[in-house]
Parts: sequence; C-alpha cells; structure tokens
Amino acid sequence: MVVRETGEFAEDVYMLGSLFMPIYLVDGENPVIFDAGIDILGSLYVSEIKKKLGNRHPAYCMLTHSHFDHCGSVSYLKKHFPSMKIVSSDKIGRVLQQPRAVDLIKQLNRVMDPMMLVTKDYPVPDRFEPFEIDLPVKEGDTINLSSDLSVIAIETPGHTRDCISYYIPEKKMLFSSEAFGIGELDFYIQAEFLVDYDMYYNSMKKMSRFETEVLCIGHHNVFIGDDAVRYMNESIYHCEKFYELVKKCLEEENGDIEEVKIRIKAIEYDNNEKPKQPELAYMLNLEARVKAVKRHVKENIDGRDRCSSKI
Ligand SMILES: [Zn+2]
Repeated sequence: MVVRETGEFAEDVYMLGSLFMPIYLVDGENPVIFDAGIDILGSLYVSEIKKKLGNRHPAYCMLTHSHFDHCGSVSYLKKHFPSMKIVSSDKIGRVLQQPRAVDLIKQLNRVMDPMMLVTKDYPVPDRFEPFEIDLPVKEGDTINLSSDLSVIAIETPGHTRDCISYYIPEKKMLFSSEAFGIGELDFYIQAEFLVDYDMYYNSMKKMSRFETEVLCIGHHNVFIGDDAVRYMNESIYHCEKFYELVKKCLEEENGDIEEVKIRIKAIEYDNNEKPKQPELAYMLNLEARVKAVKRHVKENIDGRDRCSSKI
C-alpha cells in the first residue's frame, strides 16, 4: 500500500504538515517527531502536533539530516515544546557552526515561501535559526520510549555525511528520509548520493537488512507491506541506472559536468510534474551527484591501473 495523504497511517503514527514537506509523529508514552520540515510550515506543524497530543509535548525530535527541508522548523518547534530533545548525529551540530551552511539553509527555506498559502490561516512562524543537538546518536544507539517501544539509530551516510535513519523494531518501521531516494514505485526514484556513491549504496544495502513493514521516506509517500520492500529494491535499481546514465553522459560529453547537468535535468527535473524541490536546491544536488559519479569512475580506473601495474 502507498500512503498519499497526511493523517494516521499506522496505529498512533501520523504524517503531519504537507505531503510534500511532512513531519512524522509517533505517539505513545514519550511521543516522537521525525524531522522538522521547512520553516514556513512551522505553525502548521505545531498546530497539528497539538491537535494530536493535546497538552502533552513531544519528548524527542529525531532529525535525519541537516538539509533545509528536514530541519527548517527545529528552532520554532523547540520554542513551543521547550522540553523536547533534539536527537541526531553530532555532525549536524558541526554543520550548523558554519555560517555559509546556515546562510544556505535560510536561503533555501525562503525559496519555499509560496507554500505560505498552505498556512494562511496560521500565525506566521519564526524563520530558521541554528540549534543545538541535545542528544547525539551514532550507529546502533537505542532510545527506549517505553517498555514496548524503542528507536534504533542507523548511520546511513551518502546523501549527506550526517544522515541518520531510524528504525522502530516493535513496529518494523523505518524512517529513511532521502537515504532511499525520493520517487514513485514503477516510475522513477531519484538517487540522492550527494556525498559519495559507494557510501550511499552501502547505506541502502544496510537498511535493506532491517525487516521493514512501513517505510517513511522524506517526501510524498509512505510505503507499507510489500510496497515498502519493493520501494527499497527499486531504489537500489534506480540508483545503479542513474549511475550508468551519468557515466555514459560524462563519456559522451568528454567529462564536461555542465553539459551533463543540462542533459540530466531535462530527463529528471524538467519533465517532473509533481511538486518538486526548488530549482536552486536541485541544481546544487545534481552537480554533487554528477561529481560523485565522475570521482567514482576515476577512482575505479585508477584502482584498476594500480592493480595491473603490480602484475
Ligand atoms: Zn536531503
């Protein structure tokens, strides 16, 4: 089953905000939210969390990575829920100490301002501000939410260096964000290896080893049952195909990254009718992905040459 609307999609588990820029809420003795969307939807997220939790506050906000559309509302949410602990890789803390990174997060959040239309009946939220990680987690750390509910942190670098996915074993539920790409079953899943191809690929393989009934990705959809497994497999397939496509384009364009970007954008972005990431973010990410393929191809050739020179 594919979930394509906000609301409750499993017992006590909700997609809130917008389908395009969701946050997830897992209710219980210690409620948790996963990710914090964009800043302009901050008051919508707060309002919807309050509708579900009443006077209770989320105990944790678990962040998957430091991109603008996953941590945009953290400071605003923290203002409304001061006892809520921010959980993530400590690498995010280091990213937020870099003024250039903070400026880019602010700039990309402002590009999303047209989404204000969604929230015209809500108070105007505060803009993105840097924040502290209250509870840094690393591979295998487990946070016990109650006697029968826990969250395991899985380091899944490759999309960013600070990517953490979260697995709830009692619900067989995986919050992978973009570590499994973004897209649709039987159509196209955009591979998101901004940092390194092998890292990203190995992260997908690692997540595939967790028995998953419910897969919560970063945007648009939640996949349940067989579709969760199918999405994970298709993500790996599309990632391999994208790598081959970029490699072929690089060969045909003599390694010219700008020409390759134009060709890939025409296929992947210009034809996409769905709400999509801002063009500025897409182009930054596309350049990173093309460079990652170019680097990977070169390393493989260099590696082969080193091996053959030893013979
Ligand atoms: Zn991202």
